[in-house]
Amino acid sequence: MDFSLTDDQINFKKMAIEFARRELNNDVKEREKNSEFNMDGWKRCAGFGVQGLSMPEKYGGLGLDILTCILTMEGLGYACRDSGLLFAVNSHIWTCESPILKFGTDEQKEKYLPALINGALVGGHAMTEPDYGSDAYGIKCKAEKKGNKYILNGTKMFITNAPIADILLIFAVTGDKKGFAGISVFIVEKNFHGFSVGKPLDMMGLKTCPIGEVILEDCEVPEKNKLGKEGAGSAIFNSEMEWERSCLFATHLGAMEKELEECVSYAKVRHQFGKPIGKYQSISNKIAEMRVRIELSRLILYKAAWMKAQGKRAPIESAISKLFISESYVENSLEALQIHGAYGYSTELDFERHLRDSIAGKIYSGTSEIQKNIIASFLGL
Ligand SMILES: Cc1cc2nc3c(=O)[nH]c(=O)nc-3n(C[C@H](O)[C@H](O)[C@H](O)COP(=O)(O)OP(=O)(O)OC[C@H]3O[C@@H](n4cnc5c(N)ncnc54)[C@H](O)[C@@H]3O)c2cc1C
Repeated sequence: MDFSLTDDQINFKKMAIEFARRELNNDVKEREKNSEFNMDGWKRCAGFGVQGLSMPEKYGGLGLDILTCILTMEGLGYACRDSGLLFAVNSHIWTCESPILKFGTDEQKEKYLPALINGALVGGHAMTEPDYGSDAYGIKCKAEKKGNKYILNGTKMFITNAPIADILLIFAVTGDKKGFAGISVFIVEKNFHGFSVGKPLDMMGLKTCPIGEVILEDCEVPEKNKLGKEGAGSAIFNSEMEWERSCLFATHLGAMEKELEECVSYAKVRHQFGKPIGKYQSISNKIAEMRVRIELSRLILYKAAWMKAQGKRAPIESAISKLFISESYVENSLEALQIHGAYGYSTELDFERHLRDSIAGKIYSGTSEIQKNIIASFLGL
């Protein structure tokens, strides 16, 4: 087993750190306060190549191997203080671009991928409904075939990027089959008749990422915008979730590294009772545990991503990776805040923001409880 990284991989991470510091952090506190999406930052990310890291050069992407993509994302997570922007970019890549690349027709790929990669279009996906979250295959949104169109009716909830999205992959029930086999997925453009979005939802964290409701009222979708076959929606959803659970959390790993560095520095300079707080074992133990969680997060993240890159299925590894990294980010953020005392609790520093943002990771892409169900189901439970 070879754990070494190539010079290129190391350089991509470094370049991502420099890029984020230079171009993504301006006015970040103000935007956080105003729940404002950074469209200029989105375009800068596209200019740097973020939206196309893993996409083929043929469509304008960089065609990088998955480990290099992950290291680049780690670099962004480390240096970019706008995690809402990074979350928007990640959702766009893993839940929209990636499934179109994998399951789209040539016509769909040529129509949508170049513009998704160069940042002209914003994408996302919509499975969750007001009454169906974890029970995703129970959704009620209906797609009825009429001539060469499908007519979609239903409501989607908590959809990342919805308020700014140009296209969304919408999951809906087709035909009479219920559950897993009854779901299909459609590429829906914001201008399609019958498509509308509600105003952005006010969430606890990820304040700079627009999240909203999607309303489909007799929404007309041309048949050619069906992604994959009728009834293949759940399999496509599972495939994108595996990718997302394997790769999205690289930005969390980067964020945890930054928190750790700041805790180590602070523990050396903050004196109480005549010595640095890092000399108290309750503080140094917290820091050591943070470091352990980062190391283990890195190992499982790289393993899950490596398996996906080999073309293997990785349902258990991606579930373990998602579960462990998201929970670790919450624990590390709590400890980082505690180590910084009242300064940590103040909004002047970034730890309370990390904590709010990290909690979302326990819910999206399938909750922690659902990841445990997946892992247990592979053990026959
Ligand atoms: C920031 C954010 C972004 C999101 N973006 C998107 C998006 O872009 N597209 C999209 O489609 N959805 C999105 N979601 C929705 C997300 O996928 C759902 O929130 C998630 O699947 C959980 O569904 P729910 O919130 O309805 O909770 P519920 O399913 O109602 O669950 C409530 C609680 O019960 C637990 N629970 C439920 N079923 C079980 C079970 N079988 N066993 C054990 N425990 C169980 C859950 O773990 C949870 O703790 C987003 C959510 C968030 C927070």
